[in-house]
Amino acid sequence: MARKIVLTSGKGGVGKTTVCAGLGARLAAMGFRVLLIDVDLGLNNLDVVMGVENKIVFDIVDVIQGRCRPKQALIQDEFFSSLYVMPSAHSFSKSCVTGENIKNVVGMMDSSFDYILIDCPAGVESGFHRAVFSANEALIVVTPHISSIRDADKVLGILSSYNLESKGLIINRIRGDMVLSGDMIEPSEIVSFLKIPLVGVVPEDDLVSKATGIMDFAKSPSAGRALSLIAENIHTGSKKIFDFTMKYRGLWGAIKTSLKRKL
Ligand code: ADP
Ligand code: MG
Repeated sequence: MARKIVLTSGKGGVGKTTVCAGLGARLAAMGFRVLLIDVDLGLNNLDVVMGVENKIVFDIVDVIQGRCRPKQALIQDEFFSSLYVMPSAHSFSKSCVTGENIKNVVGMMDSSFDYILIDCPAGVESGFHRAVFSANEALIVVTPHISSIRDADKVLGILSSYNLESKGLIINRIRGDMVLSGDMIEPSEIVSFLKIPLVGVVPEDDLVSKATGIMDFAKSPSAGRALSLIAENIHTGSKKIFDFTMKYRGLWGAIKTSLKRKL
């Protein structure tokens, strides 16, 4: 049976889709069979981040409405043969799709995968509930900004009405130089406010924002390493957190920080 994990946040643009794709790739690199399901109906993004948007023949709504078998809607990743994406519909009247429908699709895929990562839309309306309904576990993605942390707090309140086995926190887009200078909230403060276990931090990384496919993540020494640690933590229960201030400490770090400030 697959572990079914929803990536959610409340706020949009914090990196759910990015982390979903990157984490999926790291889990696949560890040898697991991984399915990424895009439940952001009408605003498909996961296929774009994965670089498979031109390969879509069928999508999740085709599966739900019986136009194809579930496996026909899966797109295999070019680089990681055990990584698959089930894309969301490009345009669709969302009201026709229920949480139960998504849960059925996830159930049909259950025995073929070790991990099913569900990419949740922003907001806490019906799309959010549709995505969370089929998950056993949740990863809450936040950025180190007040608005994102507040939204995550609201989401955690709503998630308490679901029978989830675990909830973990991923802090994305952290900047070591700004944390060291006191200009960015520290991860420990976010954890003590939200009161859920920290599964990992992912640094702000230009290679991620420029990425046009999953291989670009693999090239990134910082975000790629951070996501590998998250994959390991999720699988083994370890608590290894990426050292996001390392490159800004010491003499060379101080030079880098001052150069970055001047740019
Ligand atoms: P969401 O799914 O939560 O709406 P996305 O994953 O689409 O957010 O990310 C929003 C934007 O932020 C994208 O342009 C993405 O490339 C960028 N981004 C996400 N994480 C990082 C990161 N760690 N470093 C740099 N850019 C990032
Ligand atoms: Mg998204």
